[in-house]
Amino acid sequence: MGVVKLLLSGIAHPGELRSMIGYKIWRDNRDITDPKDYAATGYDRDSMKRCWEFLDHTSRSFSMVIKELEGELARVVCLFYLVLRALDTVEDDMTIPNSVKLPLLRDFHLKLHEPGWTFDGSGPNEKDRGVLVEFDVIQKEFALLDQKYQQVIGDVTRKMGKGMADFAALATPELPVAEVNSIADYDLYCHYVAGLVGEGLSGLFSSSAKERAFLKDQLTLSNSMGLLLQKTNIYRDIKEDVDEGRGFWPRAIWGKYGFNSMKELTDESRYRDAQWAANEIVLDALRHSCDALDYLTLLKNQSVFNFVAIPAVMAMATLERCFMNPFIFKQNVKIRKGEAVQIIMRSTNPRDVAFMFRDYARKIHSKVPKDEPNMLRFSISCARIEQWCEHHYPSFLTIQRGSDGKASTGIDPTSADARAPLYLDLVNKAREQAEAEKREKFMEDLRARGIIKPTEPETEEQKREREERVKKMENEPFPYLTIAGIIGGVLALMVAMGYGIIMLIMKYSD
Ligand code: CA
Repeated sequence: MGVVKLLLSGIAHPGELRSMIGYKIWRDNRDITDPKDYAATGYDRDSMKRCWEFLDHTSRSFSMVIKELEGELARVVCLFYLVLRALDTVEDDMTIPNSVKLPLLRDFHLKLHEPGWTFDGSGPNEKDRGVLVEFDVIQKEFALLDQKYQQVIGDVTRKMGKGMADFAALATPELPVAEVNSIADYDLYCHYVAGLVGEGLSGLFSSSAKERAFLKDQLTLSNSMGLLLQKTNIYRDIKEDVDEGRGFWPRAIWGKYGFNSMKELTDESRYRDAQWAANEIVLDALRHSCDALDYLTLLKNQSVFNFVAIPAVMAMATLERCFMNPFIFKQNVKIRKGEAVQIIMRSTNPRDVAFMFRDYARKIHSKVPKDEPNMLRFSISCARIEQWCEHHYPSFLTIQRGSDGKASTGIDPTSADARAPLYLDLVNKAREQAEAEKREKFMEDLRARGIIKPTEPETEEQKREREERVKKMENEPFPYLTIAGIIGGVLALMVAMGYGIIMLIMKYSD
């Protein structure tokens, strides 16, 4: 992006300009070339240095978040990414015949243990062919990884290669990239190419002990995270994919609107129908948003959280930007750089992330046209995100910075929310209990040190007497008569005094 364009964008969106400046000044990006960090980054080895270069070349967006991962996790995830990038380059290459491609995909995981293996059969236009041509460099670094990491990466590579081969096998000369038919096929394909990435990353996070061991078993949630990201890319890349003779939108969606191929979706005269199909792709992607939020609540390491949250919020932002946007059928629509920076800076905790999800869902909801065939489903889908936020971060809870600089939560006393008094009651009870326990502990301490005498334990007889007294008091009828008598007496006295005062006034004022 040119400086002028950037400045113009900044003038149109001043909040984003501020974020961009703040980002440049304040954000302390990790320097992987720092000699003090060599043990973690491996940058002192030529092979790893080359791998870091590959990462920068193949993905600018992922490169930044990967490098920020704490300790050696950055290097581990970098290698995981490059292995999958190599596998994907084989999958995407239309110049490799299936007779070569299918066995290569299925056996790719074995190449991880084959020193010196390289592949230069990629088409000349394959932008990432370098990772295959120099795969021996990646393999060399893979072999240096701890066994626990090799296990996870090898496993995911095997499953993904098999899945990709299954789908590639469906290709025909007329359709070199097989169509995705049902929603179930769509989910399965996305599982192979992205859900498994989520599974692998969770495995690496758990193995590194930076995240808890159970994270690697949250397969539904990690899959959903991958699907949200993948489906957003598939949605956004419609034009590019159709131009290259492929398309991953499921026929079950676009077929309904009278299209016979994905190519027809870019026919401007049929824009209205293409729009409904596109909207349904968004609706399907939104299905995974609450799972993605659930996944984020399980993380405890800040660098891992940022790594997962940033692409997730970017996905929601992309869905919103592309939604009801006729340009998606003409060009690649992207979010503004300033908006991306704002997302990066705000994606630091599950609450802010949830609120960003909610804000994008609201924007999408507000753009749903009146005649949208899936209008009700959109309302439900967006409401689910609202509900998630309200359930986890109720709006009657306030968070503020206390005098000690730490964040503290409180209950908004002016809230009309029926749950507020309920929670207030709970909070008060908890506080009272804590105070009572503290008092008891203090007395215990005094008794232990002999400062006060321990109280004599109650004898059985004393206990019975005390209980009887309480019971008697409870059983005594409420003394209505006595109280009525007292009230009557007071009233009579007041009447008498009033009468006396009147008589006195009458007497002396003539
Ligand atoms: Ca691919």
